[in-house]
Formats: sequence, C-alpha cells, structure tokens
Amino acid sequence: KLSSALRSFKPLNSDARKHADPGPSMCESDLAAAIANGHIVPYYQPKVDVQTGILKGVEALARWMHPERGMIPPDRFIPLAESCGLIHDLTISMMDQATAQAAVWHSRGLAIKVAVNLSPLSLEQDDFMQRIMGLVERHALPADRVVLEITEGSVVAHKGNSLGMLARLRLKGFGLSIDDYGTGFSSMQQLARIPFTELKIDRSFVHGAHERKNLRVILQSALDMARRLELVTVAEGVENMEDWRLLQDFGCNIGQGYLIAKPMPANELPLWLKGHHRRLPELRPLPREGE
Ligand code: C2E
Ligand code: MG
Ligand code: MG
Ligand code: MG
Repeated sequence: KLSSALRSFKPLNSDARKHADPGPSMCESDLAAAIANGHIVPYYQPKVDVQTGILKGVEALARWMHPERGMIPPDRFIPLAESCGLIHDLTISMMDQATAQAAVWHSRGLAIKVAVNLSPLSLEQDDFMQRIMGLVERHALPADRVVLEITEGSVVAHKGNSLGMLARLRLKGFGLSIDDYGTGFSSMQQLARIPFTELKIDRSFVHGAHERKNLRVILQSALDMARRLELVTVAEGVENMEDWRLLQDFGCNIGQGYLIAKPMPANELPLWLKGHHRRLPELRPLPREGE
C-alpha cells in the first residue's frame, strides 16, 4: 500500500520540475537509499516483429520495489530523481542491470536487444559515455545490442553538448530511438540532426487507430516518413488485435503493448516466451484474398 505521503506526491511536468522542491524526506534519503540498495529494478516489456510476432528485443522500465509501499511506477520517481541529482546514478544502475541481464540472455541463445530509457540530463553529463562504455565492456555486450530511448523534445530543450553526445554514442554502435514520437516539439528538426536508428510512435497515435481516421493518417504518415529516413519503426501501446492488423497493413516493423505483454521481471520472460510461441499463428498477418 502507498503511504499518504506518496499519494500526495504528484509527478511534475517538465516546466514545474525546474522550480519544485521535492523536500529532503522523499529525496535524499529514500530514493538515494533505494538506488544504492538495488530497490530500483528493471521490468522488461517485449518488442516483437509485427509481421512474424518474433521477439526482437525488450525495453527496460524502472520499478521501485519499496519494502513498505509496494511497487512504485516510474512516473512517481523519475521526475524526482531528475530534480534532486539522483538521475545519473539511477540511469547507470538501470543500464548496469539491463546490460547484465541481456548478456545472460545472449549466453542462453536469446540474442535480443535491450532498450534503456535515458533522461535528457544524462546527455549533459561529460562522463556518461565513459560510464556506459565501461558497463557494456564489463558485461561483454556489444554496444549494437543496446538501444537508448530518448523522449522527443528533450534534446532540443537541453541543448549543450547533447547533440554531440548522441552522435558519439551512435559512433560507438548504440542504437538511438526517438521515444513518444508525435508528442514533443521540433521533432522534424531533431530527426534531421540526430543520427537516430529507430522511431517509436507514441501510443496515443496507435491505440484506437483502427477506429479513428485522424489517428490512422498521422500513424501512416509517421511510418512512411520513418521508412524513408531508413529508421526502424516501433509502435507502442498496442492493446488490441484491430490495431495490430492495422500496423501489419501499414508495414510497421516492431510492436509493443499489452496485447503482446505487460512489462515483467526478467525471470518471467522464459515462461512468457513459451506461451507467446504457441500464440504466434494468431499474430501472423491474415492471408490476403487469392492467397
Ligand atoms: P515510455 O518509455 O514511453 O514507456 C512506455 C510506457 O507505456 C511504460 O510505462 C509501459 O508500461 C506503458 N505501456 C506499454 N504498453 C502499453 C499499452 O499497451 N497500453 C498502455 N496504456 N500502456 C502501455 P511505465 O513503465 O510506467 O513508464 C512510464 C515512463 O517512465 C516511460 O515511458 C519512460 O519515459 C519513463 N521511464 C521508465 N523507466 C525509466 C528509466 O529507467 N529512466 C528514465 N529516464 N525514464 C524511465
Ligand atoms: Mg521508452
Ligand atoms: Mg514511449
Ligand atoms: Mg512515455
């Protein structure tokens, strides 16, 4: 159960974030200890090939396993971590756990990519690249197995050396994904300047697209543009079969959402995968007329 203190804590939007004082109680003590004690853990959500249903990768999503309050979702503590200087340690901890886990999966023959969400603040940190290179080397995971998801809008908002950092990460082999595409600002400008490898369309354009023409048009245009830019296309928030079929018709590469799986702890992935394999036939495209 969440305590009343946590209930009254509201996630801050990016404008409010800069001015807010989250108070020392939630911040320095609780969250810092949680990171240090390994209570912030990744859950993994599958990213699957839309045409075949085959598992291509997973996205690591942070969960705070609080001994008294239970599981706390990232919207509750990521803004807090960003405002009190703990986001660097949190990101590194998530990267460390996710790359270690991916290396284990690889050693068992499951050669999937792992995606980690980055805060725009990480890109401003001079030793960020050195630190994450250290991690992938320690776990012997090739950098091209790691995708860094960056929310649209964040790069423009935090200029500095962010662009340079992204370019250098790309040169090292990391995949770069533009997350929540369609919800931020200056998206076109960023697409032209940053060497992204993947475009991830926000779920607000995916869920319900089969029954809303405007969503369909935006979805299809975004997919078309991404294809011309030679980016891998990902649709997030696929919750039903109708939207899944639409993504197949539109030629989207990768799908992610509750229809396929909710985020889960690493040890649940093998069992999920077994069930998923049985389900593959139903996820394949329907035969077209005359086939
Ligand atoms: P995101 O990166 O866009 O992640 C997708 C969110 O949508 C996740 O929420 C996921 O659980 C949820 N989701 C997935 N499929 C569906 C679906 O079919 N329907 C619906 N309604 N939701 C779906 P979650 O795990 O609560 O994460 C929220 C956000 O918190 C993430 O959005 C990401 O921006 C941020 N976040 C999570 N982990 C980290 C982290 O380690 N570092 C940073 N900087 N941010 C993180
Ligand atoms: Mg993401
Ligand atoms: Mg997203
Ligand atoms: Mg999001």
